[in-house]
Amino acid sequence: MADRLYLIKEGEISLKGGNRNLFEKRLRHNIKDKLRPYHSEIDKQKGRLYAYIEESAPKELVEKALATTSGITGFAEAHRTEKDMAAIEETARKILPGAFSPSGSFRITVKREDKAFPFSSKDIAIRLAEVVHELYPELTVNLDDPDNTLTCEIRNEAYLYTGESRSVGGLPVGTAGKGMLLLSGGIDSPVAGAMMAKRGMKADAIYFHAYPYTSEMALEKVRTLASLIAPYMQGLRLFVVPFTDGQVYIRDNGYEEEATLMFRASMMQTAERIAKEYGATALITGEALSQVASQTLDAMSFTDSMTDLLVLRPLLGMDKEEIIIRARGIGTYDTSILPYEDCCVVFSPKHPITRPIKEVARRHFEELGMAPFIEKAVRETIIYSYDAMGRESKDE
Ligand code: ATP
Ligand code: MG
Repeated sequence: MADRLYLIKEGEISLKGGNRNLFEKRLRHNIKDKLRPYHSEIDKQKGRLYAYIEESAPKELVEKALATTSGITGFAEAHRTEKDMAAIEETARKILPGAFSPSGSFRITVKREDKAFPFSSKDIAIRLAEVVHELYPELTVNLDDPDNTLTCEIRNEAYLYTGESRSVGGLPVGTAGKGMLLLSGGIDSPVAGAMMAKRGMKADAIYFHAYPYTSEMALEKVRTLASLIAPYMQGLRLFVVPFTDGQVYIRDNGYEEEATLMFRASMMQTAERIAKEYGATALITGEALSQVASQTLDAMSFTDSMTDLLVLRPLLGMDKEEIIIRARGIGTYDTSILPYEDCCVVFSPKHPITRPIKEVARRHFEELGMAPFIEKAVRETIIYSYDAMGRESKDE
């Protein structure tokens, strides 16, 4: 086969019992979906998937596809050969030039699944270390923290690879139901979405747009964020909800210190409407406890009571620094910090209430009568779609 081979490591799936097949099937489907134009074929052997991908597939694209797929802990481009010691050494000689840094250290890792193979793990390691020495005379052995690693796995065939990339871990998207992510242009919500995708959740996203208070640029930014997180979610829809009228109404008719709360209550109800229409059974937000006034226990307890959908807040116990590390990890940080303000900031009261009494806030919300605004916003929602590699199309 002239195809390129990628060895893929499953993480948590291998701990699954009776329903393991289901998870594996979904993972294969997800990988194939991302690499559809390249006729990928996927084989399976204990704890490993082997993806054969057409030589014409750009390496960058294949690696992006695998690095964003949950259910995979790591992957490497591998070279297979007969289970014959001379052939294994030959393959090492072929793939090593250029693959290692010429100074520093190395180790050989051997996984000998086929116990009938006549060489022990140690023998294999010694033979391969000799090959490394021929090609890289300056490298020393370091088993604990090597600069370079050559791995040899003896299974149905022998597989050799250097350099392993890490992937998302977790469980394949599509095995844990579907959520609706409230996606703002900030740092937090894209991370929240990616975290739920890592646990196998499929998700679409909603953005409340308050044009012209928030600019076209703010929308562009959210669209970019949607395209960046789409690969983690195996594709998603972005619902852009125009909510300017509703926000202006709240500003002009509500209690100033409750404005954010009233807006958030409207968001919950609007999101619930769209979620139910598109088969999502939970809402996902990027809230973290006490990060801002509307993220206190009392405030969240009030906004929770505005919907009967489960509200997931995967960042609740994280601080900003941890969230930023994750945002960098998924590649959304640089976009999130672009300066266009989000609508909450524009309409934020100077002294927002931090300890609302749920019953009182609920009564005030009812008195505002937001239903017509919510109706209209849902009707005027615009949908963008992103495929599993993050390519955008606009639904008409
Ligand atoms: P983020 O960094 O995600 O914007 P934040 O710390 O700025 O979060 P808030 O602005 O209070 O916090 O928003 C809290 C959560 O509410 C966000 O994480 C997001 O899930 C949701 N949210 C806020 N604004 C919007 C919006 N305009 N459209 C959709 N969801 C929003
Ligand atoms: Mg925000």
